[in-house]
Amino acid sequence: MSRLRTAVIVGAGQAGGRTAAQLRKQGWQDRILLLGEEADPPYERPPLSKEVLTQAADPLTGRLYAPEWYQENDVELRLACQVAALDLADRTLTLATGGRESWDVLVLATGCRARRLDCPGADLAGVTTLRTAADARTLSSGLQAGAEVVLVGGGFIGLELAASAAARGCSVTLLEARPQLLERALPNQLSDFLAARHRREGVELRLGVGVVAFEGEEKLQGLRLSDGSRLSADLAVIGVGALPNVELAQAAGLACQDGILVDSHCSAGGSVYALGDCSRHQDAWLGRPVRLESWENAERAPQAAAGAILDRPEPYGGVPWFWTDQYDVNLQLLGLKQPLEREVLRGDPESGSFLSFGLAGERVVTAALVNAGRERRPVKQLMEGRIPLDADALADPDVPLKQLTKGG
Ligand SMILES: Cc1cc2nc3c(=O)[nH]c(=O)nc-3n(C[C@H](O)[C@H](O)[C@H](O)COP(=O)(O)OP(=O)(O)OC[C@H]3O[C@@H](n4cnc5c(N)ncnc54)[C@H](O)[C@@H]3O)c2cc1C
Repeated sequence: MSRLRTAVIVGAGQAGGRTAAQLRKQGWQDRILLLGEEADPPYERPPLSKEVLTQAADPLTGRLYAPEWYQENDVELRLACQVAALDLADRTLTLATGGRESWDVLVLATGCRARRLDCPGADLAGVTTLRTAADARTLSSGLQAGAEVVLVGGGFIGLELAASAAARGCSVTLLEARPQLLERALPNQLSDFLAARHRREGVELRLGVGVVAFEGEEKLQGLRLSDGSRLSADLAVIGVGALPNVELAQAAGLACQDGILVDSHCSAGGSVYALGDCSRHQDAWLGRPVRLESWENAERAPQAAAGAILDRPEPYGGVPWFWTDQYDVNLQLLGLKQPLEREVLRGDPESGSFLSFGLAGERVVTAALVNAGRERRPVKQLMEGRIPLDADALADPDVPLKQLTKGG
C-alpha cells in the first residue's frame, strides 16, 4: 500500500482555503492540512471595509465554506496556529507552539499584513489598521455617529473606509501625502472624479499632507500634520498599503523580491508553491513577474497551483482585475497602470457611468469602468486578444464594445 502523502497549506485566508478546495476538486486523495494564524476560518476580505462597516454585517459574511465543509472534504483546519519555521531539506515545518509537521507538498499562502507608520504615537489606542475580521470588529465599534475619524492614506482601503465612516455619520478627514488620490493606480481624471464624490459626501480631503505624529495620553486625541496644522481625532486608521508576509519563506532560503518568487505554475521549486498576495508570479499573459493584491488572484491562482501539483499544469495569468465600492460608485479596474500614449474616455462622467481606457499604440492596456460592470466582459476580451482599435470608435458609446471585439 502506498504511503499517504500530505499537502500542507500555510495561511488559511482566501488563497489558502481555495487551494484546499482545488486540490480536492482536481483529485488529491491524500491528506490536506490547512494552518492559519487567525482565529477565524477562511473568509474573503472585501466586505470588511464595505458592508461589514456600513451595515454592521458579520465580519465572516464572506466566509469561504460552511463549518461542516472541512470534515466533508477531509481538510484538517487548524486555526490560531502560526507556522514559525520551514525546513525545506527535511520537508518539515515547526509551529510557534513547538509542534512539527512533515509535508510532501507545501503551499505558502501567507498573504499580506497592513503597513504601519513609524511615527510617534502610532501605537496609541485609537490608532489602527484594517486587514482582518478581528480588526473590522474593533473598527466597527469605533465608528459611532459624530466620532472624529481620520484616514491616513488615500488608497483603496482609505477611500472605502472614508465612505463607510461617512455612511455611519462620522466626521471624516482623509489625508493623502501625494497630490492625487490613488496616483499609482488611476488616471488623474478618475482620481478627481472620486475626490469630488467624497467631498460631496462631506469628507474633508487633505491632499499633499502627511501625518507627523499621533498625539494623546494613552488614547488618541489628535494628529500633528506635515503642514504644521493639528487635527483632533477619536479614531485614526492607517491605510498606507500592505506588506507581503515573506519572512518565513525568506528565512527558509526561498527567493523573495517583494513577494515569494514563483513561476507561471505558482511553483518555487522542490514541491513548494506560493500564491495569493504573498507571491510574485511569472504571469503568462503579462509576460513578466507581478505581485497582485486582489480577490481574483486569490481565487484563480489556487486552480493553477493545484493543476501543477496534480501534473496537469496550465500556465497562470490573465488581465488583472480589481474592484472597489465607495458610496454608490462601483469602480472596476482591468490591467495595471503604465506609461501610456493615450487616454480615451467613453461616456460622460457627469452621468455617473463611464469608462476610461489607456491605450498603448492601438491596443487597450488599462481600463477603468465606473458603474459599468456589464461592460467588463467585452473590455476583457479586447485586452486579452490585444485587438487593435480605432480610438474614435472606442470613445463612441453608440459603437457597441462587443462589435469592437470582433475587430470592427
Ligand atoms: C479590507 C480589505 C478590502 C479588500 N477589498 C478588495 C476589493 O474590493 N477587491 C479586490 O479585488 N480585493 C480586495 N482586497 C484584497 C483581497 O482581499 C486580498 O487580495 C486577498 O484577501 C488575498 O488573499 P490571500 O489568501 O493571498 O491573503 P490573506 O487574505 O492575507 O490571507 C493570508 C492568511 O495567512 C495567514 N498567515 C500569515 N503568516 C502565517 C503563518 N506564518 N502561519 C500561519 N498563518 C499565516 C494570515 O494570518 C492570513 O490569515 C481587500 C483586502 C482588504 C484587507
